[in-house]
Amino acid sequence: MTIFNETAAVRAGIDCDQQHGAVTPPLYLSSNYAFADLNQPRKYDYSRSGNPTRDILAEALAELEQAAGGVVTSTGMSAVLLVMQLLPKEALVIAPHDCYGGTFRLLSTFHEKGLLQVEFVDQSNLSDIQRSLKKKPALLWIETPSNPLLRVVDVHALCELAGPEVLKVVDNTFLSPALQQPITLGADLVVHSTTKYINGHSDVVGGAVLAKTAELTEQITWWANCIGITASPFDSLLTIRGLRTLHVRMKQHLANTEQILAFLQKHPAIEKIHYPGLNNHPGHAIAKKQQQHYGAMLSFEIKGGFDEVKSLVNNLKYFTLAESLGGVESLVCHPATMTHAAMAAEAQAKAGIKANLIRLSVGIEQVDDLIADLEYGLNRCQIRPIKKSVIKDRSHG
Ligand SMILES: *Cc1c(COP(=O)(O)O)cnc(C)c1O
Repeated sequence: MTIFNETAAVRAGIDCDQQHGAVTPPLYLSSNYAFADLNQPRKYDYSRSGNPTRDILAEALAELEQAAGGVVTSTGMSAVLLVMQLLPKEALVIAPHDCYGGTFRLLSTFHEKGLLQVEFVDQSNLSDIQRSLKKKPALLWIETPSNPLLRVVDVHALCELAGPEVLKVVDNTFLSPALQQPITLGADLVVHSTTKYINGHSDVVGGAVLAKTAELTEQITWWANCIGITASPFDSLLTIRGLRTLHVRMKQHLANTEQILAFLQKHPAIEKIHYPGLNNHPGHAIAKKQQQHYGAMLSFEIKGGFDEVKSLVNNLKYFTLAESLGGVESLVCHPATMTHAAMAAEAQAKAGIKANLIRLSVGIEQVDDLIADLEYGLNRCQIRPIKKSVIKDRSHG
């Protein structure tokens, strides 16, 4: 297990300005760059192909993921799309049955159009994954921990099983390079939605693909320019600023998560908690081995159903009811009606997404406030029937 390079994150692009000695890196908004002379382009010619501000972020992320290089993309989904460009027509892709909803939508649409063949499998089931790998896939997509049940799969074991012929890709969004570095576990490519922990302030939508080899870096760089999905310079600058504090934010996210877990474990309204750090979590041993920590995402089932969920979320004031994750602010989400609403009820049941399941993205607020908030909400969520006045009252009284 390797340790996150905190200094590289803090110092991304610091003191790189040759002209004026600006301490923080300049923002290059220019769409184009003058040629030195006929037939003499400079390092940069056009901002879709290359941009000095964006390159600082790409280089920093590559270093943090122990990659040879990378591309910073306009969104996490365009990072996913970029990876798919490397595949020949009709290639077979093996993806987790509970992968990120947007990835699921992209892959299943490509499958329906006949562009790719896609098989969604339960990657924690060894015989299922072995059966799929026998069909000689071109790409193995891995996502761990998964959303919203925090299922964990063994990246090293899966990459070994797939072998060198298969392109092995890990979506590392849920942990960030601060807590897991998939290339060191055998992955060829790492994908990020930088929207989440890397930027960490819920004010940029962005993505990145980091590659193990120079050859793969060259391919993704070519494709990113070809399909035009590179990130804007301004978004890149904001994301660099977010990245500098990733490790200190993460420390607070994790400390808060540990205390919130201790509180939830004792609360009578809680039926079940999904968190890889708990001894009874099926992925606990693997998470302990391949992650630096268990992360700041967790989900739990409360006693009751939709009414109790509604009462709980309406009685919280420090957990904003919203999708997304990884920002400094705490969020609460109801996967069945929000992030996973596109899944049919049957598919939700199969994936274990119940009506009483709640997901938290634990922020970096004062933890006593967060616990008091949850306590207030949980103490009221078992009241039936729910009165409107109770729902509206968001004060802690
Ligand atoms: C959010 C997310 C994405 C997509 O990223 P966007 O920035 O929203 O396009 C992909 N994978 C995971 C795991 C995510 O959480």
